[in-house]
Amino acid sequence: MPYMSYPYIVQPLPYEYDALEPAIDAETVRIHHNNHYQTYVDKLNVTMRAFPQLQGILLEKLLTNPHLVPPAARESVQHNGGGVMNHYLFFNMLRPYRDMNRPPYDIEVKLDKSFGSYENFVREFSEAGADVFGSGYAILTQTCKGALLITTKANQDTVLPYGLKPLLLIDVWEHAYYLRYKSSRVDYLQRIWSVINWDVVL
Ligand code: MN
Repeated sequence: MPYMSYPYIVQPLPYEYDALEPAIDAETVRIHHNNHYQTYVDKLNVTMRAFPQLQGILLEKLLTNPHLVPPAARESVQHNGGGVMNHYLFFNMLRPYRDMNRPPYDIEVKLDKSFGSYENFVREFSEAGADVFGSGYAILTQTCKGALLITTKANQDTVLPYGLKPLLLIDVWEHAYYLRYKSSRVDYLQRIWSVINWDVVL
């Protein structure tokens, strides 16, 4: 997990805006990274300025332990702090487009063990993402016992309060795909496997 605390910033992309073409278009990456992600950062910083006692605590700790956050700040930390964490993870798990992108052998073995095959994992994960009602995320997580589990979260919720570690997280909000794919989240989820950076996933 990234080491992030106040003051929060938008972490720079580890690739160019157009590097994900044609899976994700440059305009979508630019708006998503510079506007949507930035808005969560700005709103979280506003909340943090009002609650100085939270400023020295890592974001991961605040999200994992909501009871550490005063009730008046809890909703903002959940929504905006979740938005900051989720967008950092999402953008960092992508890499420049690669035709026939596949996980390295050792990761494929892990996916085989849990899901039967890489193809089966992709199918189950994509179905989970397509089934998210409204806005949210599809997430491959690791339980405290080390098992791999596909789960989903609504809005900007994270899996952290549930004791799960996010390994691969895909943003299925419309802002992540609408310019290119319009209402077809399924098509977006079909193409995104060409830009997954498996080196940072597992
Ligand atoms: Mn997003």
